[in-house]
Amino acid sequence: MTCGECNRPLYISHSSRGTLSYRCSSRSNGYECIGAAILADALEAWVTEEFLARVGTLEVFEHVEVLPDVVALAEVETAISAAAAKMADDDADEVQLSSRLKLLKARRTELKSRPAERVVKLVPTGRTFAETWKDSTDEQRNAILAANVDILSVRKGKRAGTAPVDTGRVTLVMKPMRLPEDAAPGVGRAYVEAA
Ligand SMILES: [Zn+2]
Repeated sequence: MTCGECNRPLYISHSSRGTLSYRCSSRSNGYECIGAAILADALEAWVTEEFLARVGTLEVFEHVEVLPDVVALAEVETAISAAAAKMADDDADEVQLSSRLKLLKARRTELKSRPAERVVKLVPTGRTFAETWKDSTDEQRNAILAANVDILSVRKGKRAGTAPVDTGRVTLVMKPMRLPEDAAPGVGRAYVEAA
């Protein structure tokens, strides 16, 4: 969240009346700025409404990190154990099993020799942003916003702290939509889940 006048961060401040505002941090840090300020409640309500108006009906995709090599290695180990166990059977086809074991072991050596590759997949959740938002905590909502909003800036208002928000002084720019390669165009937007 930034000041639309100087592009420096806004910080949260308590007024003597107990209300919370976001204020430009410049003056308290020795920089020049005419100073933007906005009521926290009003801004948060506006951001929620604006965000959901833009993406509420779209499906949420989550980033899921996978290590495909680790999965493949575990599968090879399982196959090796299975083939080795079969060898002990009375009617085992030893020639066939031994050539299979040889192949599996070569594959295991190959997998072990390369560094595990981290792949981030976009996985559809089957739920829209509006649905996800409704069931999220404040912390999760902040994570959703952080993953999808590129710029949120507030310019100085005529009277600081008047509600509702004068939309002319608030700018919200979304990050570009990211979709899995196999998704139909326009069906979703990815967000990274809070750790
Ligand atoms: Zn400023």
